[in-house]
Amino acid sequence: EKAKGPDFIRQIINEDLEKGLNEGKVHTRFPPEPNGYLHIGHGKSICLNFGIAQDYNGVCNLRFDDTNPTKEEQEYVDSIIEDVRWLGFNPEIFFASDYFDNFYDWALELIDSGKAYVDSQSAEEMRLNRGTPTKPGTDSPYRNRTVQENRDLFEKMRKGEFEEGACILRAKIDMAHQNMNMRDPAIYRIRKESHHRTGNKWNIYPMYDFAHGFEDALEGITHSICTLEFENHRPLYDWFLDNVSAPCHPKQIEFARLNLSYTVMSKRKLLELVSEKIVSGWDDPRMPTLSGFRRRGYTPASIRRFAREIGVSKVNSLVDINFLQYIIREELNLSADRAMAVLDPLKVTISNYPEGQIEELPGENNPSNPEAGERMLPFGREIYIEHNDFMEDAPKKFFRLSPGREVRLKHAYFITCDEVIKDDDGNVIELICSYDPETKGGDSPDGRKVKGTLHWVSAAKGIRAEVRLYDHLFTLENMDDMEEGKDYKDYLNPESLVTKTECIIEPSLALAEPGKTFQFLRQGYFCADSKDHSADHPVFNRTVALKDSWAK
Ligand code: ATP
Ligand code: MG
Ligand code: MG
Repeated sequence: EKAKGPDFIRQIINEDLEKGLNEGKVHTRFPPEPNGYLHIGHGKSICLNFGIAQDYNGVCNLRFDDTNPTKEEQEYVDSIIEDVRWLGFNPEIFFASDYFDNFYDWALELIDSGKAYVDSQSAEEMRLNRGTPTKPGTDSPYRNRTVQENRDLFEKMRKGEFEEGACILRAKIDMAHQNMNMRDPAIYRIRKESHHRTGNKWNIYPMYDFAHGFEDALEGITHSICTLEFENHRPLYDWFLDNVSAPCHPKQIEFARLNLSYTVMSKRKLLELVSEKIVSGWDDPRMPTLSGFRRRGYTPASIRRFAREIGVSKVNSLVDINFLQYIIREELNLSADRAMAVLDPLKVTISNYPEGQIEELPGENNPSNPEAGERMLPFGREIYIEHNDFMEDAPKKFFRLSPGREVRLKHAYFITCDEVIKDDDGNVIELICSYDPETKGGDSPDGRKVKGTLHWVSAAKGIRAEVRLYDHLFTLENMDDMEEGKDYKDYLNPESLVTKTECIIEPSLALAEPGKTFQFLRQGYFCADSKDHSADHPVFNRTVALKDSWAK
């Protein structure tokens, strides 16, 4: 790997350190809202924030930005903690909802200094009076309420004496500001909903832009890293921190969010896929969630490497999902044990092999790691090979099995196809072959060469298994390029999951621990499903095919 210089965020941090800011400390945070499971975009942000903390001997907090009671749930909190730990980080955990009293005090501070007011306009009036990017807004008729009036009304809001939508607390900044976010933004709104941690204590909840900077300041965050869409919220982030007695003033830095080809990443859409049962759950192996990637067989190291290599930038772009697949393939090539599984079985009877005899043949587990040792493969008179490894009228360049031709069975013998058996419809249902006992282990003493080597499984000892073949969930490379009037669900790939229930696997595979990954020879990498796999009912997920379509 080529050594790259520090990215633009680390450059900013380096400059701050050179200037002696923050007493030389670096403190970041990852602030998810617990309204869904984490996706790989969050993974990028996690690796960035925790990676920076590690690089600078600093600290990174995991903070739940749980200031909106409507969509937040404990299930999401639990899954987020699990995913962050899975990625290899073990942070101290904070909840923004623990700061509700602080937020309230700061709102009072703004009221007392004449920088906040209770606005009783309707939502529609507020929208109209906000103006447009080219037209200044209009001051609210309630903008000049006295401090005492504002205090009383805000107190009533807190106590639940108003209905939702009756009024809001707003910052008094500038209704003609060219940045729309600065036109007297909302600070608090009334929500008579139960919060997953504070119950019914509050009838008002703070807005993100108001709360977020204070959360950062309370935790002593030095660099508050967020995605580009918050760039024009930064003046507001700074305004709030400048206008109350905040303990410190963190620096907000924006970077481009991760977009992946053939993938949707917004939590709203992912939630929809789950609740409409288009996928089996948040951890469906086709989902771009961290739990989906985990179940698919991706490792934390592969996600971390991906995040490191795509880097951070100031410009939004689309990352090729093949790059992620290339990374996991490279890793598994080194680490995964080899095994044989036949996904589309065709029976082969070896006519000159003794009936009822089974012998055990050794097979290396991993050619790139001798320490992985070997396992014994039962071999007998009847085996299965892959259906498409046989062709009746084969062209010259077909190096697999066809009538009269000889191939090698991996770790076993050479066999020659003598006879083809078909059903009444003409489908090939069995091959009669003969083997050469002299070729045991896969070499011929007379130096005879065969071009093709096939995987196979003993019919007597092989075990029936379910294998799930996954492909992109969507058919469109850039999901931002949807045709007008179309919905992302119009682009669902009908073949994103192909379930094969008649597969035959070598016996050792049935005993695999759930979650363990193997290379199925000539097929790809497959992991035992963490939920559905058992020795009695083996289930494997294809992590990634062997073929590399990533062009470096
Ligand atoms: P979404 O827009 O997908 O619903 P979000 O930004 O609302 O995500 P949060 O829970 O607020 O989700 O995100 C937590 C952190 O993760 C934020 O700092 C956010 O900027 C970052 N993040 C979210 N999506 C991405 C992404 N695609 N790439 C990089 N960082 C992301
Ligand atoms: Mg958010
Ligand atoms: Mg969101």
